[in-house]
Amino acid sequence: MSRRKPDIYEQQKQRYWDGYRRAPLLKEKYPKVTNISVEMSFKDNDERSNPKPQQVEFSQESKAFFKIECPCHECVSGGFDFSSAINELVTSHLDKLDGTITCQGWQDKERINKHRCFLKLNYTIFARYKNES
Ligand SMILES: [Zn+2]
Repeated sequence: MSRRKPDIYEQQKQRYWDGYRRAPLLKEKYPKVTNISVEMSFKDNDERSNPKPQQVEFSQESKAFFKIECPCHECVSGGFDFSSAINELVTSHLDKLDGTITCQGWQDKERINKHRCFLKLNYTIFARYKNES
């Protein structure tokens, strides 16, 4: 068996999935919400090309884990966390919320502490709620 140490990318993937496993289900965290969808588009100010837009859907049975990894594969300690935006949306009982998050990771493992990723993500989050009749 190989006893090779996992590299920095494997470690961050591991941490991501640990967080995912520990997250409650959407219906446990936000019992009044039936569905959340997040539309994302990316804008890179560097010479890299813009990653493709993405959409993520959450149902009541989904994990309430609102983070995505940075689509720049070399990015270290980056990613985007929608937890506080979704919390604001749901606690204010809004149907829709949009905003921008900038990736604070490092551009690649050679440039840790030197060059941040700064990929920009524009999001629109939609939520649907149970009928409160
Ligand atoms: Zn990044």
